[in-house]
Amino acid sequence: MFGRRERIQVKSAEQLALMRAAGLVVARTLEVLAAAVVPGVSTAELDRIAEASIRDAGAVPSFLGYGVPPFPASICTSVNDEVVHGIPGDRVLVEGDQISIDCGAILAGWHGDAAVTVPVGEVAPADAELSRVTREALWRGLAAAQVGGRLTDIGHAVESYVRSQPGGDRYGIVEEYVGHGIGTAMHMEPNVPNYGAPGKGPALVAGMALAVEPMVTAGSRELAVLSDDWTVATMDGARAAHWEHTVALTDEGPWVLTALDGGAATFAELGIASPAASRD
Ligand code: MG
Ligand code: MG
Repeated sequence: MFGRRERIQVKSAEQLALMRAAGLVVARTLEVLAAAVVPGVSTAELDRIAEASIRDAGAVPSFLGYGVPPFPASICTSVNDEVVHGIPGDRVLVEGDQISIDCGAILAGWHGDAAVTVPVGEVAPADAELSRVTREALWRGLAAAQVGGRLTDIGHAVESYVRSQPGGDRYGIVEEYVGHGIGTAMHMEPNVPNYGAPGKGPALVAGMALAVEPMVTAGSRELAVLSDDWTVATMDGARAAHWEHTVALTDEGPWVLTALDGGAATFAELGIASPAASRD
């Protein structure tokens, strides 16, 4: 899993500042999108809002044209049993849906990548809980992105949190799709799994930037790719949640580049000391 063919990109402080600017474009776009998620809105309309927000900031949507076949939109919109990579289109959101929105932007050659799961109106308590567990698992993973640690500390923190929750042994933690290094490209070395034993893989050093992105289902972790060649859904139809942030590793702790406040408030809630999170 931890191939040595490509080195992990280590950024200077100046380069991390550029990544922060890209991360803020993503953070502000997701904030606007979350507010736009209401019953009656289509996923295509969300995509239009996202592209305008990204381009108005002088950035370029990372996802548009990405991969094979080229991804046809600026965000991924994955509804209910869709896990990731859903394509925006005619689908109109209805009360009780839950949608994951994944957004990437390139600014001055540097990438930011983040995702949120948003309820459409009022959702079932189990869906709200699935999203809460996934989000908090993400933050436990971000908190484990510490200089001096090892890469799998992050996935171990994610998995441990999910399993520690009420009914946590019944959640599926997706393994086929994982987090990743990020910088001058969206997907770089290393892979960042959301499971596994701690203390393995590459050493975590200052200047690394990682996208941490747990995908958790309310059932089996088995997945299917739909006939559009992109949308990934659960095999059993169970609902899924997906949360993601881009984090920079610094000697003063993790700095969440795609959080508006750098992660300061949530790290404080969790009792994690990270001076880097409140540096701007
Ligand atoms: Mg993403
Ligand atoms: Mg990602």
